[in-house]
Amino acid sequence: MTRQLSILALVALLACTGCDKVKSLTQRNKAPSTPAPSEAVAAPAEEPSLDEPAAANAVAENETAAKTAVDTKSEVVVLCYHRLEGKAGGINSIEPALFEQQMQEIKDSGIPVISMQDFLAWRRGEKTIPPRAIIITLDDGYVSELEVGVPILKKHGFPATFFVYLDFINKGGKSVTWAQLGELRDQGFDIGSHTVMHADLRRKPAKAPGDYDAWLKDELERSKKTIEERLGISCATIAYPYGNHNPKVQEATRAAGYEAGFTTYGARLGHGTNALTLGRYDVTAKMPGNQSAFTVAISFAGMVAPGADPVMAQDAATSMVTQPMSGEVITDASPTIKANISTMGVLDAGSVVMRVSGFGLVPAKLDAATKTISYTVEKPLRPGTYVVIIGAKSNGRPVEARWSFEYNPAGGTSPADAELPPRAAATPVAAPAKKK
Ligand SMILES: [Zn+2]
Repeated sequence: MTRQLSILALVALLACTGCDKVKSLTQRNKAPSTPAPSEAVAAPAEEPSLDEPAAANAVAENETAAKTAVDTKSEVVVLCYHRLEGKAGGINSIEPALFEQQMQEIKDSGIPVISMQDFLAWRRGEKTIPPRAIIITLDDGYVSELEVGVPILKKHGFPATFFVYLDFINKGGKSVTWAQLGELRDQGFDIGSHTVMHADLRRKPAKAPGDYDAWLKDELERSKKTIEERLGISCATIAYPYGNHNPKVQEATRAAGYEAGFTTYGARLGHGTNALTLGRYDVTAKMPGNQSAFTVAISFAGMVAPGADPVMAQDAATSMVTQPMSGEVITDASPTIKANISTMGVLDAGSVVMRVSGFGLVPAKLDAATKTISYTVEKPLRPGTYVVIIGAKSNGRPVEARWSFEYNPAGGTSPADAELPPRAAATPVAAPAKKK
């Protein structure tokens, strides 16, 4: 039972695949990488559905599109690229030849690449998409993304979304210009926000004036508004810098009018996945077993996004009492990690486990009376962000909840533009079912 459950939690956390700055993956999982039973990673799309027909769901969700049959069982993976200039472009850059090869692989896979607008329309219940689809995104606004990427994308007829941040537009050198963004728009590409200054949105950089709330609002609203006004488009999506967010950031993002917020936490996205925590696969990341994130993504072998099925998964941050709290910065290197699991529903006896990024499965204790699972960290934490995943089964079906906190011995508010500590982790992921 634990085995199957752990498969659900078999995730590759790519929390800090930050753009052109530091990226490191802590892969210190103690659990050996074990091949997973294939049924454990079966996509919901492949399972017989007990629900209403998709068309009925669509009608319920959007009466204005009552005649549209929307396949709510479809799954989408989002790829995240940065610079396409080889080693010269830094740690997030890939060789142009690799980009070309990956685009060819997508073509050969037969899995369609859909536009961001189609994805959003599907989520709104306005149009359907194929059972499996891929979205391509490119972050930061480097000219190599245009000069190298666009011809290859156009050769295959692939749509793509460019996430740009205001402080790196028209800055000369390798930055895109507004004119180039206008050309991208005219060629049918989508432009999304990557904020104003490309800082971790969870805390205000020391150099930014004002208080945090005002700064956050400005990062979200001004980037959206400026892109909309300069390009005459709707800027409905944002990619959080470094993929970092928390409930407060999500709420501010929603309040700023965004329809979707993207992280760098690769996952198979469903119709019901939380719109403000949509995971993307950073193609430069290595998954456990040394698989490339690209391979895991396009074989749809990775984890299903939390919230993809509201019955099965949830965002712990919104519904679960946790300690440390979601997004909290702690100074204790050996904290007790705790969660009240009562919001997860009726769980099968003995099925509850806790995983911590960088540690893997931990020997957490469950107090049945208080419905609290807890684990005291024995080996002192290293500075960084930790993701906690509570996995369990409910009537035999896997459920999970997750949140993250940060350990920073200096406490509180380290400048967001400082070098980021390792903040990602990985646990084994099932071998992808090769799909051509
Ligand atoms: Zn970025």
